[in-house]
Amino acid sequence: MQFSKERVIQALAAKGITTTCPRCGQKTTWELVDGFVHFDVSADSQTHEIGGPAFPAVALGCNHCGFLSFHVAQLLGLDVAPGQPSPSSPQE
Ligand SMILES: [Zn+2]
Repeated sequence: MQFSKERVIQALAAKGITTTCPRCGQKTTWELVDGFVHFDVSADSQTHEIGGPAFPAVALGCNHCGFLSFHVAQLLGLDVAPGQPSPSSPQE
C-alpha cells in the first residue's frame, strides 16, 4: 500500500486514538510522519539484517514535547502488502 495520510488519519480516528500526550499530558495536536516507519525483526540480539523481516508502522509526534508514538499499520486495519510480517509472526 502506498502511504496515504488521509487513510492513516481515518484509521486512527476509527480506533478512537486520543489527542492527549502520554508524556507531557497536553491535549495537543500530533504531527503524522509522512511515510511508514519499519521495525526490523531479528531472532537474536546481535544481528541486524538490512532488508530483512520488518513490519510497517505509522509514527505520530506530539507537537508540544516531541514524544513519538507508533501504531502497527496492520493492526490499524491498513492494507499493508501481503507477506509483510506482523509483530507476532515474523518471517524467517
Ligand atoms: Zn507531548
